Amino acid sequence: MAQGILVIAEHRQQALRPVTLELVSAAQGLRGTLGDKLTVAVIGHGGRSHAAALGVAGIDELVFIDTPDSEFDADTWEAAIGALAAQMQPALILVAHSVDSMAYAAALAVKHDYGFATDVFGLDSADGALVATRGGYGQKLNVELEFPGRATVLLAVRPGSFKPPQAAAQPATRDFAFTAKASRTKNVAYIEPASTGDIDMTTREFILSVGRGVGEQDNIDRFRELAESLGASLGCSRPVADSGWLPKSRQIGQSGKTAAQCKLYIAMGISGAIQHLAGMKHVETVVAINTDPNASIFTVARYGVVGDMFEIADELEKQFS
Ligand SMILES: Cc1cc2nc3c(=O)[nH]c(=O)nc-3n(C[C@H](O)[C@H](O)[C@H](O)COP(=O)(O)OP(=O)(O)OC[C@H]3O[C@@H](n4cnc5c(N)ncnc54)[C@H](O)[C@@H]3O)c2cc1C
Repeated sequence: MAQGILVIAEHRQQALRPVTLELVSAAQGLRGTLGDKLTVAVIGHGGRSHAAALGVAGIDELVFIDTPDSEFDADTWEAAIGALAAQMQPALILVAHSVDSMAYAAALAVKHDYGFATDVFGLDSADGALVATRGGYGQKLNVELEFPGRATVLLAVRPGSFKPPQAAAQPATRDFAFTAKASRTKNVAYIEPASTGDIDMTTREFILSVGRGVGEQDNIDRFRELAESLGASLGCSRPVADSGWLPKSRQIGQSGKTAAQCKLYIAMGISGAIQHLAGMKHVETVVAINTDPNASIFTVARYGVVGDMFEIADELEKQFS
């Protein structure tokens, strides 16, 4: 019987991507149900250089798979994961929902008859069976998926959905012997996308976001100044970005940025659509200000104010200017 959980580390340019540790957290709640062992596999030449970054609680074993290239290669990763999974027989394989996994995960699942889902943001178990949650119908509702009859399930998990573990630990390590066949692709160069010159919302610890309740473009400057006086970065919901009132880089949510490092999120005039929540509902302290007491944003808020965002802004300006 398939047992245990295998997490595939994602790395780029010699740096472990933060989503890897989020996958480790995602797996913790399933340990009893799917077996006790959690293994993290690092694929690529020189993978042991990531061991220190993977020194966190919750990992039982690090497995290093040496390949010709230190960077991602779809054919190589597909074959390497398939070979390791054939040896380990895990009940669950977790990969990041990323541009990398889009290049190999579906093919891997089909080849080995795994259960499969992408863009998963919730993991649970019911009656001893794995349940994965993802969006459905254009993200208008949440869909809970089970995978009856599948010994192994491969899930691509949305970055920013789980908090990385904090405690340090020293997992056991081993190498997995793997001979890569010739790949159909070759890494030629790594090119950083041109900078938009704007701040990176994924790194901000304090965000004040405005939604359609802001009314019109002329009101944006006022909230920009308020954010500055509070020491926050100004974010927004999609209608505000779509109207061109703030750059797209400020949009929080499913088709925008995830407030991944945010500790305090003030949502003003934002209803709390599921797509917006996808980018901020994990934040520890959410303060919501909305005139509608039934607005969904209050379901994720630690502190809620049923009131007019302009009046609250007046008060905050008085207190903090
Ligand atoms: C595929 C897809 C992807 C999407 N991706 C994103 C995304 O990444 N991010 C995102 O945000 N949305 C996204 N959306 C859009 C999303 O569905 C909602 O339409 C959007 O989040 C609504 O933005 P809002 O809350 O600002 O506006 P509304 O839903 O119109 O809400 C405005 C809120 O302001 C309140 N309000 C009005 N006046 C005041 C006032 N004076 N004071 C206080 N409160 C007031 C109202 O009560 C209301 O709750 C996506 C949609 C789809 C289909």
